[in-house]
Amino acid sequence: MKKVYGYIKRKTMLYKTGVEYGDYTMNHVQGCSHGCNYPCYAFMMKKRFGQIKTYDEWIKPYLVSNTIELLKKEIPKLKDKIKSVQLCFSTDPFMYGYDEVEKISLDAIRELNKNGIKCVVLTKGILPEELGSLSKENEYGITLVSLNEGFRNKMEPNTSTYEERISSLKFLHDLGYKTWVSIEPYPTPNIIDQDLIEILNKIDFVDKIIFGRLNYNKIVSEYKDFKSFYNQEANKTIEFCKKNNILVHIKDGTIRG
Ligand code: SF4
Repeated sequence: MKKVYGYIKRKTMLYKTGVEYGDYTMNHVQGCSHGCNYPCYAFMMKKRFGQIKTYDEWIKPYLVSNTIELLKKEIPKLKDKIKSVQLCFSTDPFMYGYDEVEKISLDAIRELNKNGIKCVVLTKGILPEELGSLSKENEYGITLVSLNEGFRNKMEPNTSTYEERISSLKFLHDLGYKTWVSIEPYPTPNIIDQDLIEILNKIDFVDKIIFGRLNYNKIVSEYKDFKSFYNQEANKTIEFCKKNNILVHIKDGTIRG
């Protein structure tokens, strides 16, 4: 098991997200050991605003030690406004191999659930089995953009394997939880040539799929048919979801005329 690099304190925890499918969110870790090379939007933003200087700094996670204290203070004020809290948009709540991050994420979800607030989880790590004893309202998700481990090692170097991720999701689905998959950022064929249907077939048990294109990466625009490629893959996802009775959301800007 790995140790976080340190502890920091924050002044606030819960905030409303501007992301198109989110409500409230919380980010109780600074940085993310997963170190995705798509690149990671959260890393780019932290770098732009001078909070993080280098990639090496970004992959050293610092835990917000007063997370639960802040939640206890903020929940009573916000609970009537909150429909759900997503963990997380700027870090990963189940950072692979980091017990301390897992523990504080579970404690945070318990605290929110105790106050009748549903949690929506998204990870590139493993969803812990303990999630199966928390509120049945919670929704659990993984990111899955490929099944190729060579690609994963290059693009998401410190994450869990795809198999581990999928089976932890299936475990929670079998317990009766709503599950979802974010297929985002989906790579173009000049990055990896793969069959989207093969990926979709692996996750045909989920309740919702979100599909989105890869942004902020010039390799995409080097693929001359990238617009029609994304239109075609988005339509495949829509068709697949229709056939399998799965809710689908195509991220803005993925389908273009
Ligand atoms: S898991 Fe998410 S937050 Fe962490 S590096 Fe990857 S994209 Fe960024």
